[in-house]
Amino acid sequence: MNLFVANWKMNKTRAEARAFAEELAARIGEKAPAVELAVAPPLTALDAARDSGGRWSLAAQNVAAEPSGAFTGEVSARMLSDAGCRYAIVGHSERRRFFGEDGALLARKLARVREADLTPIYCLGETEEERERGQTESVLERQTQTLAGDPERAPLVVAYEPVWAIGTGRAATPDDAARARDHLARLLSGRRGVRLLYGGSVTPGNARELLSVSGMNGFLIGGASLEAASFADIAGLARGGGARERRP
Ligand code: PEP
Repeated sequence: MNLFVANWKMNKTRAEARAFAEELAARIGEKAPAVELAVAPPLTALDAARDSGGRWSLAAQNVAAEPSGAFTGEVSARMLSDAGCRYAIVGHSERRRFFGEDGALLARKLARVREADLTPIYCLGETEEERERGQTESVLERQTQTLAGDPERAPLVVAYEPVWAIGTGRAATPDDAARARDHLARLLSGRRGVRLLYGGSVTPGNARELLSVSGMNGFLIGGASLEAASFADIAGLARGGGARERRP
């Protein structure tokens, strides 16, 4: 089933999160949607963003690399699970770039996520400079090596998010996304239960073509996920039924 994840980043108070949840629930209706939805609010709004009807799950935007202890300001995977999260985003490019998170640290975070029975949404993607140098494939190769210690049979979500496409309004072309998907599928061919998402300036206007041509299993959505209407539209819910998958 396709998966659509709303990454709110550092946006929304609890009241705003509640308003979003009410509107999204109204748009979905009582019936379970034909796609899977997850919302990654700031930690303070986890409760407010929760759906009592179970039509979407919660994701954390980040997780501590340590299981517990004297790490002021950190939140452990076990705490996130206790707060109702099903997923945890690991390795978002903003964490890599602004907080210096590298492969070694991300591998530790992945291990904590597994210990807490959460499913990681592992983000990777090349910078503009790397793309111009023709290094996209080698960057993806290096970044997937962070998954070397991750159990091969455990469900995994990998989000291809080219850094130059995040928050820029310049999404990858459907063909670029398809090439990255195929490369990642090869790199992860030894694993079971991997879903590949695309992220980077997805909007209601480009979602349908991006999804059908790229063969991705859904999207990680930043800016356009802040409004319930556009998040639902991207997930295909506005058209009643959810966007279709091209490949299994
Ligand atoms: C993101 O932050 O993961 C993202 C894809 O952002 P945007 O959709 O705003 O480009």
